[in-house]
Amino acid sequence: MMAPRTSIAEFPTPEAFAADPSLVSLFYAWRKHMALKAQPNLGHYALAELAKRKENFLCLTQNVDGLSFRAGHPESKLRLLHGSILDVKCFDECGYEKHHDLSDPPCPALAPASENYPPHQTMPLLDPNIPTPKIELEDLPHCPNCKTGLLRPGVVWFGEGLDTTMLMGIDNWIMQGRIDLMLVIGTAAVVYPAAGYTRKAQRKGAVVAVVNPDSDSAQGLTSSDFFFQGSAAEILPQLFEGVIGVMDENGKIEEK
Ligand SMILES: [Zn+2]
Repeated sequence: MMAPRTSIAEFPTPEAFAADPSLVSLFYAWRKHMALKAQPNLGHYALAELAKRKENFLCLTQNVDGLSFRAGHPESKLRLLHGSILDVKCFDECGYEKHHDLSDPPCPALAPASENYPPHQTMPLLDPNIPTPKIELEDLPHCPNCKTGLLRPGVVWFGEGLDTTMLMGIDNWIMQGRIDLMLVIGTAAVVYPAAGYTRKAQRKGAVVAVVNPDSDSAQGLTSSDFFFQGSAAEILPQLFEGVIGVMDENGKIEEK
């Protein structure tokens, strides 16, 4: 039996893609369209500037929206724990991957996912009463390498492990020396996976600074740690000003 549309949206799995690649591809084409319509905020720009100026800085993110990349965050200082909605890879695992694919829609057959509707109107694609457009398998994007595999989004689905090479690289980075500061932004220091990395960083000497609008996320901090209550967009440009300079409302650093 095919899973209902909402469960595919909430719990994407490789099995769901295998069972109905058209529906899952439409759903991800829509998510990608929404992510591309969004703009990086001042928090993304401030982190990108910090990364450019600090040699020994690494940003770990669970976000898949591609906004850090679009804010100019150097890729060498960014680890996408859950992948990116802008990446595609071969579902048949031939090894093909493409990063930062900004095509919207990804192919003509997926165009219904890239239509814009007023905020109060439910998009037909998300309305369970409206049948999803019928898309033939041959019209879905195929792998240019093996030619037979379908292309799937480069995000981590339920039931899939994180990239072990990336995780090992992060652990090696943490182990290489003292860590001065662990910034926990938009999540809590006690919630995984941030919690695991916070503990590792603390063992390497790090002071922890949590930036979050929710005061509950200050849980578990000690008297030598910091809590900044507010959004990343409000707090980070001010917090980093001594290092990156003054940021204007467009995320540009003002020339002295
Ligand atoms: Zn392939």
